[in-house]
Amino acid sequence: MPQTERSTQFPSRLVGQYALVTGASQGIGRAVAIRLAEEGATVAINYFGHVERAEETLALARKASSDRGHGRLDHVVVQADVASEKEIAAMFETILARWKRLDCLVNNAGFQAESSSEALDIETYRRIIDVNLNGAVFCAQKALAHFVARGGGGSIINCSSVHQIIPKPGYLAYSISKGGMANLTRTLALEFAGRGIRVNAVGPGAIDTPINAAWRDDPRKRGEVASHIPLGRVGTPEEIAAVFAFLASDEASYITGQTIYACGGLTLFPEFRENWAS
Ligand code: NAD
Repeated sequence: MPQTERSTQFPSRLVGQYALVTGASQGIGRAVAIRLAEEGATVAINYFGHVERAEETLALARKASSDRGHGRLDHVVVQADVASEKEIAAMFETILARWKRLDCLVNNAGFQAESSSEALDIETYRRIIDVNLNGAVFCAQKALAHFVARGGGGSIINCSSVHQIIPKPGYLAYSISKGGMANLTRTLALEFAGRGIRVNAVGPGAIDTPINAAWRDDPRKRGEVASHIPLGRVGTPEEIAAVFAFLASDEASYITGQTIYACGGLTLFPEFRENWAS
């Protein structure tokens, strides 16, 4: 089987779970929503600006769960700018009024902007921190309040990045936001472990999604990106979604406070693949 061909031989580990995925109208968030639905979870597809793309994700999630024999689950789309506490509160109210429960929060929404750090526009800086990091914090607060009130645990999975640990020059706000996710994940994991709540993160490398418009459709640039990756290729959103599904499942019942890097080896200091001079 080619490395990127998708296996459909995975189990249905999420039957009965209700999950919210932020920024699920495209890219990794869409793939996560579909994968969770395939494994039997009911999903809320959060979107910011593009209802038609969120509706596409909804249709794909519906098909995924019915194709896998889970019937017609109550998947839903829900609008909110995750930079807004008010909109997050309204989103959780809508979901909890409808489902009465939530088991898993996936903090996926995020974006980046390139700028030399000394010239970084302060509004852009604030917006990236507000969406990527503060949005994850505020959504986590709402999910945790629900998990604690109903008892019985729950899980939060943050979409971080290899840039949680690898600096990204020219992307200062993005680097800071993903660096912050390390201690967001670890601090919440420790604080809530005693109540059966697990908090983890996934750290993707270079994945074929719209965030990488700068190189994904240009064969030369794409080849250049792949040349830096030990496994020799960029990753697919589905390969990242598989890690989220694992972390959401009971198979990860003893894992909390961890970041799993799915990055083709990018975190292995690829520059050391060969001896330099010795
Ligand atoms: P993407 O641009 O395709 O998707 C990002 C999603 O976030 C979009 O659906 C967008 O609408 C949503 N979003 C942005 N601002 C929002 C807001 N204020 N409120 C709600 N939703 C909002 O990119 P992607 O690659 O799918 O990125 C998803 C996550 O994966 C991000 O957190 C990103 O940092 C992370 N990531 C991506 C890569 C990669 O190479 N693609 C690598 C590491 C980490």
